[in-house]
Amino acid sequence: MAIAPDKTVLVVGGGISGITAALETAEAGTKAVIVERNPYLGGRVAQLYRYFPKLCPPYCGLELNFRRIKENPAISFYTLAEVEDISGSAGAFKARVKQKARYVNEKCTACGACVDACPVERPNEFNFGMDTTKAIYLPHDLSFPMRYVIDASVCKGKECGKCVEACKYGAIDLEMKDRTFEVEAGAVVYATGWNPYDATKMENLSFGNVKNVITNMMMERLSAPNGPTQGKILRPSDGKEVQNIAFVQCAGSRDENHLNYCSAICCMASMKQASYIREKHPDSKVTIFYIDLRAPGKYEDFYRKIESDENITFVKGKVAKIEEDSGSGDVVVTVEDVANIKKIQEKFDMVVLAAGMEPQAKTVSLPGGVKTEDNGFILSDALPSGVFATGVATRPLDVNTSNQDATSKAIKCLQILVGGK
Ligand SMILES: Cc1cc2nc3c(=O)[nH]c(=O)nc-3n(C[C@H](O)[C@H](O)[C@H](O)COP(=O)(O)OP(=O)(O)OC[C@H]3O[C@@H](n4cnc5c(N)ncnc54)[C@H](O)[C@@H]3O)c2cc1C
Ligand code: SF4
Ligand code: SF4
Repeated sequence: MAIAPDKTVLVVGGGISGITAALETAEAGTKAVIVERNPYLGGRVAQLYRYFPKLCPPYCGLELNFRRIKENPAISFYTLAEVEDISGSAGAFKARVKQKARYVNEKCTACGACVDACPVERPNEFNFGMDTTKAIYLPHDLSFPMRYVIDASVCKGKECGKCVEACKYGAIDLEMKDRTFEVEAGAVVYATGWNPYDATKMENLSFGNVKNVITNMMMERLSAPNGPTQGKILRPSDGKEVQNIAFVQCAGSRDENHLNYCSAICCMASMKQASYIREKHPDSKVTIFYIDLRAPGKYEDFYRKIESDENITFVKGKVAKIEEDSGSGDVVVTVEDVANIKKIQEKFDMVVLAAGMEPQAKTVSLPGGVKTEDNGFILSDALPSGVFATGVATRPLDVNTSNQDATSKAIKCLQILVGGK
């Protein structure tokens, strides 16, 4: 049975899972509308330096997807947008979407002249505050759409207007307003993903108190050529090149007081990040403190490869305490070494906490009858007919499995649109 050309799938969240769900439905003949909260598409994957296990740059795959979106008139997307309300039922939903003003229109050529003119600096959230941007900024080098945006919370507005004067293309409109509009759709897919678990909640691990303790997502940005240090792994306190680094596994995950589940990817992510530093500095040393290592299925080969590097040491033990060595800025880690039944203390240039993934739906309530487990993952089985959830919004997943899951949810959407089921 053919799909009527006006049938639409609404996808909430434009990370890899949402993009995949939109592409798979649109390429099968529907329309797809992506509603994304950030000023760019790509979600967390846009912040990663490399993918495990192949260590290829995630942006290759993302760019292919962005090209498929650009070339397909059946897909539209809204950035800086969120769904406020969803009414109706399978086959005939109505969603109210609120889109925040970007203050920069489609005439923007990304020339950057406005940045030199803008007097206001703000922390760069894309790089987890490790550098700054101006109030008018490009979200990141490879941003899609490649268009600047103004952070209204810090911009001085019309009294300043220096960016408007600097822009030769008439691309900046400081009077732009937020807008609300309606999207009609036959099916809805939630792909709202995750946030890094707030590492300051684990007091003994000293994130926020000891400067050279960072999180795994910060490590992705520190390693990336378009990151705050242009890919040099330098420690935050004094910019020293990091030669001796420790990773603390299960930082928050598998702990009833924090995240009561295994975040599934952190062991692989730390092993991947060990390879970043080993590749950049041949004499560097890496220690990975773990409780249980998880490298399921085909990932076992990657684990074997990393384990065979004699400069990478795995220590089975729970990290009890992290402190600063006053004067040197080094980080002192105290661990219960399980294999040798003793307490050890070691000093490192920098420590990376393998912080877990916490579902975005834990912190916001989503419209359209969405229910979550106590830990915030969307309960797929309790969703109304015609509403689906995919990717890390439903459980901790890697990118490959997120894509498979999103494709399966695209098929569910097609069943609704074709058969009205
Ligand atoms: C340190 C680290 C390293 C990793 N490295 C790898 C790796 O090498 N290989 C691998 O396979 N996996 C890796 N992962 C896992 C990978 O990041 C996830 O599998 C992937 O991000 C899942 O994509 P997603 O689209 O489900 O979620 P996300 O990437 O979180 O995307 C969700 C999107 O939805 C948007 N959104 C959220 N709420 C709303 C809302 N209410 N309205 C509109 N939009 C909304 C968000 O802004 C975001 O753009 C890593 C994870 C970590 C923590
Ligand atoms: S807003 Fe104007 S000045 Fe700024 S990058 Fe875009 S085109 Fe250039
Ligand atoms: S109007 Fe806002 S964005 Fe433009 S230059 Fe002034 S502070 Fe910067």
